[in-house]
This record gives sequence, C-alpha cells and structure tokens, in this order.
Amino acid sequence: MSDAETFDYIIVGAGSAGCVLANRLTASGRHRVLLLEAGGHDRHFWIHVPLGYGKLFNDARVNWLYKSEPEPELDHRQIIQPRGKVLGGSSSINGLLYIRGQADDYDHWRQLGNAGWSFDDVLPYFRRAEDQERGADALHGAGGPLSVSDVCEPHPLCEAFIAAVQEAGLPRNDDFNGPAQEGAGYFQYTARKGLRRSTARGYLRQARGRPNLKVVTNALATRIVMEGRRAVGIEYRRGDEKHVATAGREVLLAGGAFNSPQLMQLSGLGPAALLQQHGIAVVADLPGVGADLQDHLQVRFQYRCTEPITMNDVIHSWRHRTLAGLRYFATRKGLLAIGAGYAGAFLRTGPQVATPDVQLHFLIFSADTAGAALHTFPGFIVSVCQLRPESRGFVHIKSADPRDPPAIQPRYLTSPADRDTLLAGMRLLQRIMRQPAMRRYVAEEYAPPASVTSDADLMAYARKTSTTVFHPTSTCRMGTDPTAVVDERLRVRGIARLRVVDASIMPALVSGNTNAGTVMIGEKGADMILQDAAE
Ligand SMILES: Cc1cc2nc3c(=O)[nH]c(=O)nc-3n(C[C@H](O)[C@H](O)[C@H](O)COP(=O)(O)OP(=O)(O)OC[C@H]3O[C@@H](n4cnc5c(N)ncnc54)[C@H](O)[C@@H]3O)c2cc1C
Repeated sequence: MSDAETFDYIIVGAGSAGCVLANRLTASGRHRVLLLEAGGHDRHFWIHVPLGYGKLFNDARVNWLYKSEPEPELDHRQIIQPRGKVLGGSSSINGLLYIRGQADDYDHWRQLGNAGWSFDDVLPYFRRAEDQERGADALHGAGGPLSVSDVCEPHPLCEAFIAAVQEAGLPRNDDFNGPAQEGAGYFQYTARKGLRRSTARGYLRQARGRPNLKVVTNALATRIVMEGRRAVGIEYRRGDEKHVATAGREVLLAGGAFNSPQLMQLSGLGPAALLQQHGIAVVADLPGVGADLQDHLQVRFQYRCTEPITMNDVIHSWRHRTLAGLRYFATRKGLLAIGAGYAGAFLRTGPQVATPDVQLHFLIFSADTAGAALHTFPGFIVSVCQLRPESRGFVHIKSADPRDPPAIQPRYLTSPADRDTLLAGMRLLQRIMRQPAMRRYVAEEYAPPASVTSDADLMAYARKTSTTVFHPTSTCRMGTDPTAVVDERLRVRGIARLRVVDASIMPALVSGNTNAGTVMIGEKGADMILQDAAE
C-alpha cells in the first residue's frame, strides 16, 4: 500500500453531485481536495451526442451495468439498472431531460423535518446551477455551469401529442420548471449547442486546472477509514495497487444511490446483522443505510406510425442516416440532438390529487426494450410513470468484496397505491392517444395491442414489460427519524466528518427526473460544507 497523501476533503465519485462539490470546494483555493472516480475520462464519442445515450445502456466502459434482484411484482424479472461509471457519472450517460420536480416535493422534504430544504430554500441553488437558454427570471438562472436548452425544432408527432392532450381537456405547458408543472409540452435538455452538458463538462472542466484539486480516475474507493466513530480517510484501488488518502476535514460520499450505501456497509456502517453476515466489523449499527430505495417505474406503450417520419425510418435508411449525421455535424441540429424524451406531460390521474401524479415521456422511435435495436417499421413510444411511489426497496452488499455488485431491489409496485396510480395513468395515456390529433398517426396499437382492454390485462402488461426510468434515490435518506442516515446538513448521524452528498439523501423521490435535483443537492451541500469550515 502506498503512503497516505493528505487532503482537506476527499470526494468519492465524480458524478452529478461529486463534480459540483469538486468545483465549489476548490474555488477559493483554500482547500485541498481529492476527487476519486471509479470510471475513466469522458472521451467516449457517444457521451457528447445527445442521441448517443441509447448506445451507453450496455457499454461497460462507462456503465456499472447493474441489475435488480428478481422483482416480486414484475413477474420476477430482473430490471436493468444502468449507472454512469465515468467522469460526470450518470449525468454523462443519462437522457438529458431537465426537470426539477414540483415545489411541493421540496416543501414535503421540509415538512418531514429537514430545515432548509423547502422549495424557497432550494430555489437559489437551482438558479445558481443553471444556464437557462431562455434567460433568467424569478424561477430560472442564467450564467451557471449547467446549460439548459430547448429542443432544436418541433416535430409533427410531438405537436400531435401535445394537441391530443389538449383535446383530452388537459393543458399545454411550455415550461415544466415554471410556476406550474401540469400539462404537455416539449422537454428541455442539459445541453449546449447540441452537445450534452454533464457535470463533468459544466463543473469539473472549469476546476481541473486548479492546483488544489487532484482527480484520480479508475480509482475504486473500497473502504472509509474510520477512527472510532470518525471518518479520517479512504482506501482505494487502481488496478491491483492499493492506496490510502487522509482527509483532514471530511470524507464526502457522492457515489450515487447504489454505491454510497454499499461503501458505507463495506466500512462497517449499516444494518448490523447484514454486516455480520459478511464478516464485517460493525462500527455503527445504522439500519437505514441502503433502506428506502425508491425509483420511478415506466410502462411503455408502442405504436406503429402511419407515416415514415420517425427515428426508426432514419436509422434504417442509409441515406437518411447520412443526411442526419451531416446535418448534426454542420448545425448541431436534427435527430442526433434529441435526448431520452422529446415531448412529455405531467398530469393528474383524477381530481383526488392536487398536483400531477404521473409523467408521460413521448419518444419518436420504438424498440422492444430500452437500448435495443429500433423497429424496422415507423413507430413511436409513449411511456407513463407514477411520480411519487410508495413502494420501498433496498441496497445490500452481497459480499465483503468491494468489486462485487450489491443486491438491488426497488420492490416496484409492492404498494397497492402504486398499482392503482399506474393503472389510472395507463388509462389516461390510452385516452390521450385515442384523441383525433393522435389517431391519424396511429396505424396500430402495437404493444399492448388494442385487444388488451381489461384492468387485469393492462396490469399484466405492466408486470411483463415495465422498466426503470433510472431514478433510484433515498438509500441514505435525510431526516430526523431513527432510520434516517443523514441530518439536514447531510452529516451521517452519529459519525463525525462524514457526509453523503448525492441522490441517495433525497428524503423522498421528486416528481420528475432526478439529475437537476441532485445537482442542486451538490450546490447546497457545498455551501454547507464551506460554511462549517469557516466556523
Ligand atoms: C440511463 C439513465 C438515464 C437517465 N435519464 C435522466 C434524465 O433524462 N434526466 C434526469 O434528470 N435524470 C436522469 N437520470 C438520473 C440522473 O442522471 C441521476 O439521478 C443522477 O445523475 C444521480 O447523480 P449522483 O451524483 O447521485 O450519482 P452518479 O451521477 O451516478 O455519480 C456517482 C459517481 O460515483 C462513482 N462511484 C461510485 N462508487 C464509487 C467508488 N466506490 N469509488 C469511486 N467512484 C465511485 C460512479 O462511477 C459515478 O461516476 C438518468 C440516469 C440514467 C442511468
């Protein structure tokens, strides 16, 4: 083992939150920071082209390629769980959609006892992060490291979808991060001039030249070094070499919702019985570490299109593909500039809910599964997900070897309320897709077929085909109750000099895609760390 180098802060994970921390903590020049990343540099071509996210689902060079345990309510299927393993983390491989969630989500966090996390409290951090192409206003920021831009052009299918939502009596919405989330419209992307803006590009790049930041890639953190109940450093591996680094001030975990609890458990911080089962000495019995896993589950409805205007038609035509490529390289526009959704909607399944409880993603291509080859016929997809699931799962180590993936089980749909909302969401989706504006583009309801009409059959379809929206959170949940892992300043309860700053601290999943919220957590976390250092 090489001699320990000493830093003020050690950050584990250069993902959505970790890159924000690395930038903000080194800005003053006063603190020496080590950033450890298990993956490599973000040089992969398809990271930067928005459409390329579909090529990264199965690419072990940039992806941990996790899978869930068999899911009890999903016909015991194992659900893919991609996670970025590269500078930028999942912000380098995600679908680029920029959605903060609802103001009520954060007010709910505050109501759960987390002082400082109401929407009014977190809004300045969203604004600070953002470089909104439409300019700054009371709800948006401009000039920040995270570029947010509009889709480059409208598409006839998206126009039809938005019109169909209106025909169904529901509103249009041109800003899902505006005063109200409800309605249908185009998504905005974390992109700039047609290129992905991960946190590695937005935050880390700016900080890389600072002499007080050391970034080590291909470095797997294997254990938090503890002195009693105090974190004092990190052990990590690069290939076969073992290293140790010492943190004079704090160790900051930003490994994401699967890896942060895994590293804590490997270090003796977790449910005592689980640690003992794997021969790990218990430093602190923290039953909440790895508990409360939440995720969004989506059901995808596939349609055959009446006209050859979908991405399927471009991808399967040599001529159109070449033209799309040339256009993208000349103008950064066109199909290659599209992320994981083009248009979408946030809707209420009925008058019993005050704010949207389902999200629809509209995509101008179709494929049997995420990341699979596109259909050879013209096709498109609309998916529905329930926004605030009640089901809770877990992340548990399977062995004491840090290289072994943990057991991941979101336990999707185990709450009856989640099944009811998903069913109501599927019914709403069908109602929208059968409106006149959309009907002219539907040659066939491909999957589920129109013959699937009963509630039981629709639920059977969901169990057989549904998959993740890639939003795991809450496995090191912030709160005040006995199983909460971190307090409202993100300090691990009962342990000194250790914080978790990533999506795993969310007290509850937000009503939307989770990257924006995680960047906000990085911004607010950095502020709190710097305030505490100044005292
Ligand atoms: C395929 C996909 C599509 C998505 N689409 C969207 C979308 O369109 N919009 C949206 O808002 N959200 C989306 N998300 C979710 C969003 O990207 C994540 O919620 C967010 O990036 C989580 O940030 P994080 O900082 O918690 O973790 P991550 O960004 O995953 O970062 C964790 C980092 O830590 C590193 N790491 C982990 N363990 C160790 C270790 N032991 N040692 C060293 N390094 C370690 C990892 O390699 C990784 O780089 C998507 C996610 C995926 C995977």
